[in-house]
Amino acid sequence: MARALYRRRSARCDSEFRRRAKPAAARSSGHHRQRADVYAAVGPPHKIIGNIYYVGTKTLSSFLIVTPAGNILMDSTYERNVPVIQKSVADLGFKFTDVKILLANHAHGDHQEGDALVKQLTGAQVMAMAEDVPALQAMKPGGKEHPIDRILQDKDTVTLGGVTLTAYLTPGHTRGCTSWTTVVQEGGKTYNVLFGCSLRPPGVITPAIADEFRRAFKVVRALPCDIQLGDHGAQYGMHAKHAKLQSGGPNPFVEPATCMQEADLGEAMLNAQLAEQAAARQ
Ligand SMILES: [Zn+2]
Repeated sequence: MARALYRRRSARCDSEFRRRAKPAAARSSGHHRQRADVYAAVGPPHKIIGNIYYVGTKTLSSFLIVTPAGNILMDSTYERNVPVIQKSVADLGFKFTDVKILLANHAHGDHQEGDALVKQLTGAQVMAMAEDVPALQAMKPGGKEHPIDRILQDKDTVTLGGVTLTAYLTPGHTRGCTSWTTVVQEGGKTYNVLFGCSLRPPGVITPAIADEFRRAFKVVRALPCDIQLGDHGAQYGMHAKHAKLQSGGPNPFVEPATCMQEADLGEAMLNAQLAEQAAARQ
């Protein structure tokens, strides 16, 4: 079951890399054009809760965290999606040039390729977990150097306009995969928000990667969480919750019971793959 889920849901980042590594001629088939459209289609942009908004594409998350001193953007996604994010920010009534800080979940192209362009358009400070820096330095869309203004360590905090986010190193998917926490107020209540990093294992798991994941699962399970968000909307049922939000009632994004869903799924996938690898060696 976990293995089937893995095949169906996990390989997004990696398959996107493989697709983009192909020459343009090989990519121009109808199938690939269709897939590219899905990745670039607009979110839709929406308020999640309090000062947190969704400004990503249909499948790739990008979050806007609004503060009185300017805004924080989490995940630029692919460079070609930056205009989509820019428009979503404007459609929600905010100025893209008010983005002061650019954060991210992890150093894969579908989440951070657009960083250099966002920096160019906004002048935002780009911050990255130390362990992801080598992968980011190798990410050069159109030959542009990947901007990094501040290198973060595990449990570092980022503060703007009275809003604080804490960076937790939850490695495995990438070396510096970062899960972020913050608190948000709405209706007189305070909620813990977890911007989870992907916990999906890569195709081949080395003992070092397995160790990283074990650490990540332990860290994530200890984090306070009332609202779980993730670097792909599918990790937290974004489209279903957004539809529910439209019909009124309690905010569907507040769902502590499903906060550890990504960790549970990731761990099941990891164990299934490790068992498969061990069986293949015999
Ligand atoms: Zn990834």
